[in-house]
Amino acid sequence: MKALSLLLAIAAGSGQLSAQADNPAFKRAEEFPGRPRVLLIGDSISIGYTIPVRELLRGEANVQRIPTNGGPTTNGLAHIDEWLGGEKWDVIHFNWGLHDLKIMEGGKHQVALDAYEDNLRQLVARLKKTGAKMIWAATTPVPAGKLNPPRNPDDVPRFNAAAARVMKENGIPTDELYAFAMPRLAEIQLKENVHYTPKGYETLAVEVAASIRKALGASGGVTIRTDFEGGRLGRIERAGDGRFLCGVAGESDQDKRNWQANWYYFRVDGAAGREITVDLVDLPGEYTYQPNRGAVTRDTVPVYSEDNQHWKHFERTAYDAETPRLRLRFTPHGDHFWIAHVPPYTNEHLARLLSNFASNSNLRKHVIGKSVEGRDLLLLTVTDPSVSDASKKTIWLMARQHSWETGSSWAAEGALRWALSSDPKALLMRREVILKMFPLCDPDGVARGGVRFNVHGYDLNRNWDAVDAAKMPEIAAGRKALLDWVDGGRRVDLFLTLHNTETGEYLEGPPDKEGKYRALMLRWFSLLEDTTTFEPTMPARFSAVSTTLGQRGRMNVAQGLYYDRKLPAFVMEQKISFNKRLGHLPTVEDRVEFGAGLVRTMWEAVMDRR
Ligand SMILES: [Zn+2]
Repeated sequence: MKALSLLLAIAAGSGQLSAQADNPAFKRAEEFPGRPRVLLIGDSISIGYTIPVRELLRGEANVQRIPTNGGPTTNGLAHIDEWLGGEKWDVIHFNWGLHDLKIMEGGKHQVALDAYEDNLRQLVARLKKTGAKMIWAATTPVPAGKLNPPRNPDDVPRFNAAAARVMKENGIPTDELYAFAMPRLAEIQLKENVHYTPKGYETLAVEVAASIRKALGASGGVTIRTDFEGGRLGRIERAGDGRFLCGVAGESDQDKRNWQANWYYFRVDGAAGREITVDLVDLPGEYTYQPNRGAVTRDTVPVYSEDNQHWKHFERTAYDAETPRLRLRFTPHGDHFWIAHVPPYTNEHLARLLSNFASNSNLRKHVIGKSVEGRDLLLLTVTDPSVSDASKKTIWLMARQHSWETGSSWAAEGALRWALSSDPKALLMRREVILKMFPLCDPDGVARGGVRFNVHGYDLNRNWDAVDAAKMPEIAAGRKALLDWVDGGRRVDLFLTLHNTETGEYLEGPPDKEGKYRALMLRWFSLLEDTTTFEPTMPARFSAVSTTLGQRGRMNVAQGLYYDRKLPAFVMEQKISFNKRLGHLPTVEDRVEFGAGLVRTMWEAVMDRR
């Protein structure tokens, strides 16, 4: 009789297993190369959370499970070699218990408590050989009531305590599924049944996925970092399956107005071969006291780099104007993947550039002051020292008053490289003019990944009518260098501050009502149109007296210099969006080449050799 009932029990058991064989959780999941591999081992509870865990870790890990119900530890010992299959696993999340503590005919546990502990010790020793990180999942609660097969709710803590000893000996962390499920049983578990509702399995899966993510950690988990020069993001939220919500860190001015969210620069680590989705959010702001949603749109295509040096535009992005949100989807080849609003240009780039020309006799470098944070403010002078300065005209080029506008720095680099080159035109230019350059006006903003304000919130291309050397030493130093030059009897034949916008490209002269500089402006404008990739979205024009009439502190550098000394001071804006003359989005190479053409046209415009 005893033998027969045992046979019947085996038959019933195998019948149960074969009924589950077509469970989709047993199907091997498609794998993505480069992602960490996770193995789930466990009984029907783990079968229930397998699919939702796989879904939660989509894009982060390849999640597989043993192709069956793990049963009791005795079954584990019999099959563990076959289940591990000699494959390489990064994380193994495992449990045995509910089947061991099952109460059999005669009132004994299917596997006695001390045998359970011994078996578990052997199983852990075997799992350890895989080199995988291990996570022990505590056995989930048995509810009160008449269960089939019978189980005693009080046995679970006892079996878990035995397991805890084994895990402690082996330094294996525990996914506390018992403690997690216990207070929620009414919502997630079936009545008088150890199993869970579909919603309940999803709830458990969130816990399981979180413990796996923790184990993946630095070796396998994807992280986003900004701890490098110019790096910046606002909030970084993990949305689960290889998805991140990244806020663009905005900045406001000294009066907490004019919020601008148009710089982001970050690195995605540990995502080789995995598809990552980043939603850029927190985009709306204010520009010149008006609500503005134009800083990041479908027109401002982000750039990416696999080496932090060579940048390409994303070929596809998805912009949702309603939210608004810019969605990026990518699969990095390597462990580091950089993303930025436009190709970054930091203080390090400038230092490297200048070190190339350290012994060039045509270049002089002056430190004209210090930024709020004590960084050097530079003024460069390029001219041929063998020709007397007395006969030379002077052109001034200013870049990077606004830290996000890196295109102005790449153009300034191109201008400097060309001006110091052996191009016959450059040789002639150096004999005919003095080129004065402010290569980078906001080194603090560039270092911290700022937007358009200095440390104290001052917009460095406003406030030229309200300069305060303590609050805005960057403006004070530049303005003093210019006014000292003029007041010392020297010439300023043309001054340009170079900027970037999203979609507008134009040249704007000083508020020259008398039209004294009209001929110069038009001559230069046509040189730009004829010989460079400048793609104006409006004709050349003179500006108003200030950017916000009647309000102090709202003159830009060109307006301020005209107000102070009637200088021919201009603003050029260049868009970061598609340039029809180039036929593509402007690249670093395009900016560098444009810079060369720009300084050449400035020289040609002031020489007026027609
Ligand atoms: Zn600007």
